[in-house]
Amino acid sequence: MPEQSSQSSKKRPRTDPFDDRGHRLGSSECEQKPPLRDDEFWFKDGTIVLIAGNVAFRVYEGLLARDSSVLRDLFAGLQRVLPNVEMIDGCPVARLSDRSEELRSLLRAILSPWGYYRPDQTVSFSVVASLIRLGHKYRMQHILDNALGRLKGRFSDKLETWFDAWKGTHDSEPSISRPSMTSRPTDAIAAVNLARLTGATSVLPSALYECANLPTQTLLQGIQRDGDDTTTDRLSSEDVERCLDARKYLVYDYFLTTLRAVAPECDEDCEGDSDCSSFFGDRLEFLRTKGHDKTGLCRYDSLTYRNVFDLRGRNIYALCATCEAMMEERHRRERLEIWCRLPGYFGVHVPGWPDIDQSEEPASYSDSDS
Ligand SMILES: [Zn+2]
Repeated sequence: MPEQSSQSSKKRPRTDPFDDRGHRLGSSECEQKPPLRDDEFWFKDGTIVLIAGNVAFRVYEGLLARDSSVLRDLFAGLQRVLPNVEMIDGCPVARLSDRSEELRSLLRAILSPWGYYRPDQTVSFSVVASLIRLGHKYRMQHILDNALGRLKGRFSDKLETWFDAWKGTHDSEPSISRPSMTSRPTDAIAAVNLARLTGATSVLPSALYECANLPTQTLLQGIQRDGDDTTTDRLSSEDVERCLDARKYLVYDYFLTTLRAVAPECDEDCEGDSDCSSFFGDRLEFLRTKGHDKTGLCRYDSLTYRNVFDLRGRNIYALCATCEAMMEERHRRERLEIWCRLPGYFGVHVPGWPDIDQSEEPASYSDSDS
């Protein structure tokens, strides 16, 4: 068998890396630079060497195999072809297609979780995203669940929880609760993709809402991944379409919420005599007669403009405390209704999403009304 013997004597078998979907890559796709030993994860008594990018990690096969059926299969494959396996310091080598920073985040979650990812610690979005991608790829359920918990905390299905987390990202006003994750406004794009990847549908309405509020250029072209100048996070063309389509509802909501908040009816316990009704009349007149450049009503952020007091503008009339509270309540109610309609705007089904009034006929957001 001359062909077989020449192959086995010339070529050194090695483990092919995995692509982002967990499929093995061919040898032509592997980079073969001499790897650098990682400062943090190079245990002298480690039993397996993982190479990601140009960094080698010497860690414990058993610990990784315990947590990941994918890695368990990979290591078993190496064992089957021993001794014809690439070795470093007496350890078999597994080359992975992951970025070294992402793999390091994963190894921290496995080998030193209490040093890096305690529940009370704030973690960056890029780390959470890495843990979700690799936790999903290597089927590490507890790592995936923990990281998804942080993502769901930032992109909550509860309006006030989400709004508080949103403020921490977008506003100079800090969020009330300690965030479990820091993020940039543009991280909403990767959040949508991670939700799509893992089926975490409860993340989608608020993340898509935030995407719809991004500049159109960012929405279309995507954003470079934090700390990785080789990867751009982009929405699928279907999700871009959803965001662009939803904008017409969001701008309508912004307009209608403002109109309804200043409806010219004072609270029945109004103490302001004629001032309150003058205020409402004046506001409505302003909205009716001025262009969008003056009224500022042509916006998509119907859920996130600061508060009802902005609606007062520079009005000369004082509003009594009772009417102010009434206006606040009108505004709160409007925001809640918009929140309930978000999944419909973006064409996503989210089991358990709040419904402001089960008895109301659900609105239709099909193509026919666009
Ligand atoms: Zn009043």
